[in-house]
Amino acid sequence: MKKWMLPTVAFAILFFCMAVGKLSQRTVAVYNENVSRVVVTYYDDGEPGEPVILKEQVIVLDAGHGGWDPGKVGVSGTLEKDINLQIVYRLAEELEKRGYPVVLTRTGEKGLYSDGATNKKREDMANRVKCIEEAAPAITVSIHQNSYPDAGVHGAQVFYYEGSAEGKMLAASIQKAIREQVPQSGERKEKANKDYYLLTHTTCPIVIVECGFLSNSAEEKLLTTESYQESVVQGICNGIESYLSYSAEGVSVSAVPVAALAEPTAVSAASIAAIEASGFRV
Ligand SMILES: [Zn+2]
Repeated sequence: MKKWMLPTVAFAILFFCMAVGKLSQRTVAVYNENVSRVVVTYYDDGEPGEPVILKEQVIVLDAGHGGWDPGKVGVSGTLEKDINLQIVYRLAEELEKRGYPVVLTRTGEKGLYSDGATNKKREDMANRVKCIEEAAPAITVSIHQNSYPDAGVHGAQVFYYEGSAEGKMLAASIQKAIREQVPQSGERKEKANKDYYLLTHTTCPIVIVECGFLSNSAEEKLLTTESYQESVVQGICNGIESYLSYSAEGVSVSAVPVAALAEPTAVSAASIAAIEASGFRV
């Protein structure tokens, strides 16, 4: 469905509510079209308020490194920058399939720096932050691969800024979903960090997903395969979706399939307060 159809849908909901006469108490109809939302408030006298169309929730995907900066180099020579970009492309495709608008920081082989830059890394990181801030996303997911002197170490791990409760929730959600989707990745837990540049220079909830260790030859091999990358991507997407879906008395404010909200749902004043507290206008 296109954006211009949202007002039509909002009116359809309004008409439906009036037709069935469910207006004896304050009622909120929550409509989700992809990640845009139309919220309609009804009052005790049965008069509907103005439908509020909420902003689309963009997801920024950041493929770490690129160009002159290969990131970690695997035991068999796999370059982190290449795996990062492959996984980000797959993530973008899957998230768009699930209805989320996506913005990529790095879109090709090269990083976000100019050839003549005196400090390419600094320019690259500053441009990533700029890209993220301009997109004003609901969340940002930065994709990296890990490396460690002990070749036995393996598994995906999600990092969040230690001062961010939202970041922690997002990290825990993605870590759990990866564990479910890719059990062979191990039992690592999400981890707080206070130094990573992107974590400390951005304002949205952001996580860094280290998908695996290129220093572990078995994991390096897996990370180059389409099937393993797809499993990791499914895990990350499931984690993102469960983070974005907010439940109040069984009413999910986001990530709800359109068909599930054919009928407006009555919610209590407490739920409305909870929805508002989570940052949505009701
Ligand atoms: Zn990296």
